[in-house]
Amino acid sequence: MDPVAPLPTRRADLLARLAEPRTWDLVVVGGGATGLGVALDAAARGYSVLLLESHDFAGGTSSRSTKLLHGGVRYLAQGNLSLVREALHERSTVLRNAPHLASKLSFVMPSYAWWQTPFYGIGLKLYDLLAGRAGLGPTTLLSRAQARAALPNLQRAGLRGGVLYWDAQFDDARLAIALARTAAREGALLLNYCEVTALLHEDGRVAGLRCRDAVSGQAHEVRARCVVNATGVWVDGLRQLDGAALGQAARPVVAPSQGVHVVVDRSFLPGGHALLVPHTADGRVLFAVPWRGKLVLGTTDTPRSDLPREPRPLRAELDFILGEAGRYLARAPTPADVLSIWVGLRPLVRPDDGHDTATRQLSREHAVLVSPSGLVSVTGGKWTTYRTMAEDVLAHCRRAGLLPAGTSGVSAGLRLVGAGSAAAASLQAAPDLSIYGSEAQAVSALPGAGRELAPGLSEAMVRFAARHEYALTVEDVLARRSRLLFLDAALAMELAPAVAGVLGEETGLDPNLDGFLALAQDYLRWPAAQGT
Ligand SMILES: Cc1cc2nc3c(=O)[nH]c(=O)nc-3n(C[C@H](O)[C@H](O)[C@H](O)COP(=O)(O)OP(=O)(O)OC[C@H]3O[C@@H](n4cnc5c(N)ncnc54)[C@H](O)[C@@H]3O)c2cc1C
Repeated sequence: MDPVAPLPTRRADLLARLAEPRTWDLVVVGGGATGLGVALDAAARGYSVLLLESHDFAGGTSSRSTKLLHGGVRYLAQGNLSLVREALHERSTVLRNAPHLASKLSFVMPSYAWWQTPFYGIGLKLYDLLAGRAGLGPTTLLSRAQARAALPNLQRAGLRGGVLYWDAQFDDARLAIALARTAAREGALLLNYCEVTALLHEDGRVAGLRCRDAVSGQAHEVRARCVVNATGVWVDGLRQLDGAALGQAARPVVAPSQGVHVVVDRSFLPGGHALLVPHTADGRVLFAVPWRGKLVLGTTDTPRSDLPREPRPLRAELDFILGEAGRYLARAPTPADVLSIWVGLRPLVRPDDGHDTATRQLSREHAVLVSPSGLVSVTGGKWTTYRTMAEDVLAHCRRAGLLPAGTSGVSAGLRLVGAGSAAAASLQAAPDLSIYGSEAQAVSALPGAGRELAPGLSEAMVRFAARHEYALTVEDVLARRSRLLFLDAALAMELAPAVAGVLGEETGLDPNLDGFLALAQDYLRWPAAQGT
């Protein structure tokens, strides 16, 4: 059991703190991996921190990743060794600080040509070397029989062997909630459903902002020494507001690219390994990853010019994913096997030269920009490196004179809420109480612990989400506290009325059941050819 009781997240109390007249050291806009990482790092260094998220924490890109903590085999192929080394190091940091939400995972890369095993084997040995002491296990070359035994449903015709290497996987949305709650434990105030609508300038400098509580509609003004814009693919919106207030145009920094995932039954990839297709028909990599009792297939990389909250897949993207899976799996999934489809937008950093570049070649590294008004914007990067991105953002804030010097190097050793003495989790298994780590007993002590709404989701878990995890809506619970919407959208729809009943009882607010049912339909919808 955690020595510290879980903090309450009663909205009325959070709003009362927001209304207190004060000047925060740092206000972070955006509650995805990037903003939450910054808030935690800053709070742990002793700054006063407020974080405002317009929707739910991780409601944007940060709940829609492939859920891999990885150095990036692709970046290795591109020769970006420093990014790979840093990410491999951070992979270990997350495994250590959130053992209930991350676990190591072996990947098999099958070979169908004579040169593939030695070629990929050498590359992955280099991956091991770059990991050094952060390595999770040695890369091994597999014979044909070993590859077949590792992935029993692998296409056998032409199979020559394979390479097995190690990386890690995690629960992205639950890690986000753990970051939020750990930041709160360190003294930060965090609010979801509170959109930043305007920046306040004084003498040409950002001095605060205006935000709106989406539940009550009430507007608030907040004063800050430093404002960090961590709004992911939406980062240019706030930069433009900032520029417009000062009569200057802000250069767009994000080129959004859409990535689609398809979830099918775990039986399509029996055995304890993930599958990596190193070179798809369009020159990318494709993963089939066992996760939370199901199999996740993905992803794509399709440039977009708009920024919808709920991007939907193109038919061509789904055909591509199932087509590639069918090339490698003897029993291939069909559209009728799909349990959920989710789509995320990558905040890729645009090159500065103004020329369009294929999104596959844009940088996965992050960018930090300090505007003439002192607005600090951060975008790009990846989940795996959220912590080093946060350190970099705070270094920029200090260098720009927006924050006084603080303590250094604290977050690397900071265990997240629930880590306690939790044993390492298995992210492959269907969810159960172990997702709460050392807080499992606190969940079991709530009313409804014995009443299962679905396997792995009890009434007590819904109560815990409302009382301690900032959940307000059915979507918050079924998409991001439990991951059922992402795993089995039809089952999530069945449970939704029961979840709404418990949530309404806990919060006294409308949990937006109808909104959830409409959304879940979209997670099951197979688009017509040529469209979304
Ligand atoms: C398909 C796909 C697969 C990926 N797979 C991996 C992976 O396996 N491993 C990995 O390490 N990385 C992966 N990534 C990358 C990773 O998911 C992203 O880099 C990361 O989630 C970005 O986080 P963010 O906080 O910058 O953006 P977001 O999570 O989008 O957060 C930005 C937040 O800002 C909020 N916001 C916007 N405007 C306002 C406003 N005015 N006021 C208040 N809030 C506002 C939004 O609601 C949103 O919640 C993947 C990305 C994609 C798209």
